[in-house]
Amino acid sequence: MAEPELDLSKKYDAVIIGSGAAGGMAAHVLTSHGLQVLLLEAGKKLDIEQELRSMEWPYDNAHRGGLPPGSHALNHNEYTIRRPPYGPGFEKSKNLYSYIGSSDYAKNIVVNERDNPYTGTNYAWVRARCLGGKTNIWGRLALRLSDYDFKAKDRDGYGENWPISYSDIAPYYDKVDLYLGITGVKENLPYLPDSLFQRPTKLNCAEVSLKQGIQKMGRVLTQYRAGVTTDGLKHNKYRSRCYGRGACSRKGGCDIHAAFDSPTGLIYPAMDTGNLTLRTNSVAREINVDPQTGKASGVHFTDSETMKDYTVRGKAVIVAASTLESARLLLLSKSRLYPNGLANSSGHVGHNFCEHIMGPYVAGQATDLVGKPPTLDDGRPGSFYLTRFRNLAEKHPKFIRGYGFEGGSGSGMFPPGTDSPGFGASFKEEIRRNQGSHIAMGAFGEVLSRYENFVDLDPLVKDKWGIPALRFHYKFGDNEHHMAADMKETAQEMFEAAGFKIIFVSDRVLTEGWSIHELGTARMGADPKTSVLNQFQQSHDVKNLFVVDGSGFVSASCQNPTWTIMALCWRSCDYLADQLAKNDL
Ligand SMILES: Cc1cc2nc3c(=O)[nH]c(=O)nc-3n(C[C@H](O)[C@H](O)[C@H](O)COP(=O)(O)OP(=O)(O)OC[C@H]3O[C@@H](n4cnc5c(N)ncnc54)[C@H](O)[C@@H]3O)c2cc1C
Ligand code: SF4
Repeated sequence: MAEPELDLSKKYDAVIIGSGAAGGMAAHVLTSHGLQVLLLEAGKKLDIEQELRSMEWPYDNAHRGGLPPGSHALNHNEYTIRRPPYGPGFEKSKNLYSYIGSSDYAKNIVVNERDNPYTGTNYAWVRARCLGGKTNIWGRLALRLSDYDFKAKDRDGYGENWPISYSDIAPYYDKVDLYLGITGVKENLPYLPDSLFQRPTKLNCAEVSLKQGIQKMGRVLTQYRAGVTTDGLKHNKYRSRCYGRGACSRKGGCDIHAAFDSPTGLIYPAMDTGNLTLRTNSVAREINVDPQTGKASGVHFTDSETMKDYTVRGKAVIVAASTLESARLLLLSKSRLYPNGLANSSGHVGHNFCEHIMGPYVAGQATDLVGKPPTLDDGRPGSFYLTRFRNLAEKHPKFIRGYGFEGGSGSGMFPPGTDSPGFGASFKEEIRRNQGSHIAMGAFGEVLSRYENFVDLDPLVKDKWGIPALRFHYKFGDNEHHMAADMKETAQEMFEAAGFKIIFVSDRVLTEGWSIHELGTARMGADPKTSVLNQFQQSHDVKNLFVVDGSGFVSASCQNPTWTIMALCWRSCDYLADQLAKNDL
């Protein structure tokens, strides 16, 4: 793989900050246009196959896959009781991670909370500082948005419409599908458009029962739409097709890269063009501005290991540090010309912050499957997705927008029920008899975008590199709590419709941030007074500045965001390349 060195004397066509889904996609698209691109990534390049070790057995791991002594991952109660920063109170743990860092496989991928503090309201902020960011361990549910989302205001009067329609982004969703691979089944749903799917996975017995049980209610259950290549990708030598090895469900990604991750899916192919320079361990701390033109001139970054400072120059700067880090960077980039931070004449940077609410779930049992012979069900990169059904044709009296469920069932290597009381031969026999019959699902719902939910810079607390920390001012509102109550009721009602025995139903809402789907801190819009970016994720204020991650989302919808982040980014980078070619940036 060609790996050019950073050239400080050069003016790159584009400098990209961040190498996750958004930064990787920007690198792919811009280098394909023949542009000279520099990619700055704050984290290190990990030997990711060594980290993930997808086929390692628990008994081959010193801690059965858990964290070694001296390390701790925050749990739900700790996030609820304590206020950030989460370091104080955990002095005994040298390494402190977010809840996702609870396995030996993810611990080096997520950040150490001590080095990367944040303050304000309770928030479970999951960050992955390494090449590829969170895509190394993402859950792979890859869904499209529709005009039910882009034009949601037209339907219920709340918030703002997006400055694009489904027809604007549909060709880019197609490009993402074909370039990265996605598995699923066509359903022809107007509110959840189909992708160009590769070979689908199969539903198992309990899942088919649920699908059939809810059909009479007009509700739809479909195979998990996973950003995984099941047929393989002839154009990508870094990724294998999925061999259904059943390792997907463990936090820690796919070490043969059948599941999409940004390095093998986007960055390494971009490096093969010879047009990409990658610099890891490079923490961007400010976007520089030319005081004469008011345009972005480059990026000031610190080497995370040597603490040495550098400045690089670019004709365009592309911020892709993930929704919250991108807002932080814009706010940090204050100057005489831009005293409130860069691209912030509207005062909306950091605001309208939205995501998905999680928590309510149901667990049950298809009793007709008890005692049946085991089936091989964990060799799949995902189980099922139960699509949104609220506020489509009818109007719910208590809340607007919608939610969907992710769930699964079947016989697996580590069957459900092993945590129930018992021991010995009779216990094992009981687990075997019941294993294929367990089924569970949990909801993800839209959190409304509100100006009052925002992040800003903490005036006192700084991270390990002396950069001001982010401060949260963020809470779920009444709409979300009414929605969560409904999630619990409908979950139970659907399991009953399928004839399942209910084992447990919960309406407990998880801490803000749990979904890891942060969005909206630099929203797009036509009006520069109420939005930060235009429809091409280009700053209204600074023509050669683009923010191509989830920051530009106008609303969260209830669908997982990553496929949309990448489709939008592709569209914006095509536009950027075109503008550069016309010398119009
Ligand atoms: C466990 C888990 C499960 C998930 N499941 C799903 C799912 O099923 N479906 C879905 O759609 N999404 C899912 N997500 C979310 C998904 O991973 C994100 O939407 C996606 O990665 C966002 O891409 P991004 O490029 O904006 O951010 P990231 O992937 O976080 O990448 C941002 C990069 O920027 C770097 N960076 C940050 N600050 C700086 C700086 N100052 N200077 C230089 N670099 C910087 C970071 O180190 C990082 O590498 C999941 C995430 C996790 C962790
Ligand atoms: S099931 Fe497929 S995508 Fe999942 S870890 Fe195994 S090979 Fe990778």
